[in-house]
Amino acid sequence: ADKMDLVIQKIRSFPDFPSKGILFSCCIRMCFCSAGIDARGFLFGPLLAQRLGIGLALIRKKGKLPGPTVSVAYSLEYGKAEAEMQVDAVEPGQKVLLIDDLLATGGTLYAACELLRKRQAEVLGCLVLVQLTDLDGAQRLKPVSVFSLTEY
Ligand code: IMP
Repeated sequence: ADKMDLVIQKIRSFPDFPSKGILFSCCIRMCFCSAGIDARGFLFGPLLAQRLGIGLALIRKKGKLPGPTVSVAYSLEYGKAEAEMQVDAVEPGQKVLLIDDLLATGGTLYAACELLRKRQAEVLGCLVLVQLTDLDGAQRLKPVSVFSLTEY
């Protein structure tokens, strides 16, 4: 339930919109967006973004995105990688939920948090399907909260 609180806090209801008698609820688009991480975050990010009626920013492996970008280098269990995002993917001050399939060491999501900080966006939390608890990724991401559907 507290996983959903994060989302519910962002919902606003508008009486009599778009016509009388309708209570129209939505997340405030301009202040709440999601970011999915290349590649399996792209499977789940769009589903949630569509369900919530919010935007989706793409955080990609370096070299995939055109135009001005910001990037952050990070280590993986095997070698190094670089995460990249277009500078106009989020607005400064925008609240963002990060989505990936799995949390291991937290290096990937930590780099994603750094990217959003570079653009002055606020990370509300990280959502993953699976959290590998032995690797302490959630500890590494603090004070950002991790919400996982399963822990392994
Ligand atoms: P981290 O940066 O160590 O937390 O690794 C998380 C990223 O690597 C995610 O984007 C996952 O898709 C991928 N990953 C790392 N370990 C595994 C694994 O054991 N199974 C599936 N994906 C993994």
